[in-house]
Amino acid sequence: MTICYIGIGSNLGDPAKKAQLAIKALQQLPQSQWVAVSALYCSKPMGPSDQPDYINAVAAIETTLTPLALLDQLQRIEQEKGRVRKAERWGPRTLDLDLILFGDQTIVNERLTVPHYGMKQREFVLYPLFEIAPQLTLPDGQSLANLVNNCPLNDLQVYCDN
Ligand code: ATP
Ligand code: CA
Ligand code: CA
Ligand code: CA
Repeated sequence: MTICYIGIGSNLGDPAKKAQLAIKALQQLPQSQWVAVSALYCSKPMGPSDQPDYINAVAAIETTLTPLALLDQLQRIEQEKGRVRKAERWGPRTLDLDLILFGDQTIVNERLTVPHYGMKQREFVLYPLFEIAPQLTLPDGQSLANLVNNCPLNDLQVYCDN
């Protein structure tokens, strides 16, 4: 079994509900065991700011799937849960599942870059990841604690729906 960390993001169509549905789907992954999920966080969008805030979380699973088979599964869940049901066939995707870490493997191919290329700069990845894996060290030897200490919160908050 390899421990994997998966980033969950959504900012359209009841994003907190979308994140919860994604968590349920991740709990049912084949050849995998559920480990943990962070709290839901509320984050400011990267890039264009004329869009709703994001809901983010990071989940941990153990799996015997290969990295590409896991990516296939994540993309299947995005397809099943992420699309706003509109009249047109391929509506906007509202759920994003990124493979952040796959054990201590470094993977670079056409479909997959692991560790995820943006993880070290993204507060909405680092803080939820730190919540569930405070002792984590990246494949390059950097400690997650050090990355978190050097990453501004940028308005990241634990999401609270009441
Ligand atoms: P970003 O990657 O900056 O977070 P994004 O998540 O919006 O942006 P997508 O459109 O969801 O980007 O994904 C584009 C492609 O990225 C996917 O088709 C996938 O093959 C590739 N990809 C490469 N590395 C990863 C990874 N670690 N996790 C998920 N997808 C990845
Ligand atoms: Ca996207
Ligand atoms: Ca992403
Ligand atoms: Ca993605």
